[in-house]
Amino acid sequence: MRLNVQELLRGDGVLPFSCELDPAGLDFPSIARYRSPLRAAGSIRSQAGLLELRGEVRVSLDCLCDRCGREYGREAAFSLDTVLADEHQDEEDPDVFLVQDDCVDLDEIVTTAFVLGLDSKALCRPDCKGVCPRCGHNLNDGPCACRPEADSPFAVLGQLLEED
Ligand SMILES: [Zn+2]
Ligand SMILES: [Zn+2]
Repeated sequence: MRLNVQELLRGDGVLPFSCELDPAGLDFPSIARYRSPLRAAGSIRSQAGLLELRGEVRVSLDCLCDRCGREYGREAAFSLDTVLADEHQDEEDPDVFLVQDDCVDLDEIVTTAFVLGLDSKALCRPDCKGVCPRCGHNLNDGPCACRPEADSPFAVLGQLLEED
């Protein structure tokens, strides 16, 4: 969605906004599916010639755990906090979004906040135990039938070597 900020460019004021964004095309290995659109809400404040956009993005997701591969639901929220600049200002600053033809591209701002806010590591729970490297059993469900490491032939061999 493009938001017209012409009034804010003329003087001090506050412009509230809310929008929904279809996340189709925003594919990440850790996201199994989206359960809701990206919902953003907040306001743009104009003060002393500076336009500041603040708000929040919320989305409901099914993620894939990086450690055990299990799907888990997640309600995610990311904060929006950015400065808007008109076309004549510094275009090189990645934290600044440009106002073009009196409009800001809310979709771009929301998408950027979402992508930057996604954790690099997606875990079904902070202490996820992962899967057994031998049988693939999800260790969050309890121990598997594999024998503990101490009983392995290598552990016995290690003991024999130490006794020598
Ligand atoms: Zn996990
Ligand atoms: Zn196992």
